[in-house]
Amino acid sequence: MKIMSINAGSSSLKFSLFDMTTENVLISGLFERIGIEGGSYTLKYNGEKIKVEEELPDHSVAVKILLEKLIELQVIKNLEEIQGVGHRIVHGGDKYTESVMVTDEVVNDIIKFSDFAPLHNPAHAICIKAFREVLPNTPMVVVFDTAFHQTIEKARYLYPVPYKWYEEYHVRKYGAHGTSHRYIAIKLSEELKKDNLNIISCHLGNGGSITAIRNGKCVDTSMGFTPHAGIMMGTRSGDIDVSIVPYVMEKEGKSATEIMNDLNKKSGFLGISELSSDSRDIEKGIKEGNEKCILAEEMFVNSVVKYIAQYYVLLGRVDAICFTAGIGENSPETRLDIIEKLAPLGIKMDIEKNNIRGEFAKISTDDSSVSVYVLPTNEELMIAKDTMNIINR
Ligand code: ADP
Repeated sequence: MKIMSINAGSSSLKFSLFDMTTENVLISGLFERIGIEGGSYTLKYNGEKIKVEEELPDHSVAVKILLEKLIELQVIKNLEEIQGVGHRIVHGGDKYTESVMVTDEVVNDIIKFSDFAPLHNPAHAICIKAFREVLPNTPMVVVFDTAFHQTIEKARYLYPVPYKWYEEYHVRKYGAHGTSHRYIAIKLSEELKKDNLNIISCHLGNGGSITAIRNGKCVDTSMGFTPHAGIMMGTRSGDIDVSIVPYVMEKEGKSATEIMNDLNKKSGFLGISELSSDSRDIEKGIKEGNEKCILAEEMFVNSVVKYIAQYYVLLGRVDAICFTAGIGENSPETRLDIIEKLAPLGIKMDIEKNNIRGEFAKISTDDSSVSVYVLPTNEELMIAKDTMNIINR
């Protein structure tokens, strides 16, 4: 069974075509600058990378090129071979608690929830429409990034603000990265051959979030009403005192939107280091003795440790702390800095075992109070699996 996994942004479209019998990716790629001058696409196939510069006026054009290429490259003989398409959706509001088949009602809801994800949800809807036009008979599924967090209880998802904000404007914690955290929960259970695991899942990428998982279900997560909340990130501040917003608005004569842009795009690693949002540049800066990089790393680590410690208490029994995504999978230094600060909880890193990148491994000592793992995430595969399971139901 061949399933296509799609992740569309406002001007991009990422895809992977899976052979679900082996779970191997047959071809993957990225269409960029859709609707913007200077469009291009990259395809990864048979160990080769092909890049083509071509204007991409809208998502429909990108989808058409994508499907033509699959046939041209003989990845598939005809479009019927694609037995399902799974779309990643950033926001499912508080309505969607799991992945569902695409219907007109679902597409309308995705548009309706655009208020919560103004850059992403409209693009998802456009992309679904484009796929439905060229593959009218192919079943499609949507996988919501917020769905996994819908098991959080009310006392944790509400903010202590006027209740009316929740009732009338739906202000509450929704979380993000749910597909990644769910993948981690399922995959770790498979790897350890154990059910009922309590996990603190640390998705540390350019965006980052920490999730407390009890017995496969999310009990709390660090991102909030938007992905802005929680730990410090590449360019996002994470949690701050909200009074800073009107204070700096006044100082700099900026609008709320402009300040939000500063908090989203010019803060985090980039804001503190004044150098880069990329943790590799920060690590390089640290080696060169750059004080601001050293400070940025320490602040990042502190913010992660704060959430892990909080969730340690929340879960009561923790079977695993799991590192994933760009930084989590690839930075032994950052992992070590985090685990060293958790020493009061009896959590201990095995420095030698920690010296790995991008592969599943236990990296804590045998006498550590909690086992610590690195586990590469695979959101695309999770989307493809949900799609297959729902189609087969
Ligand atoms: P996102 O999906 O949120 O864009 P990623 O999960 O790709 O982010 O993570 C990006 C972050 O991971 C960057 O800070 C980058 O420096 C870091 N990263 C990615 N690959 C590596 C690597 N090989 N070594 C060290 N850090 C890496």
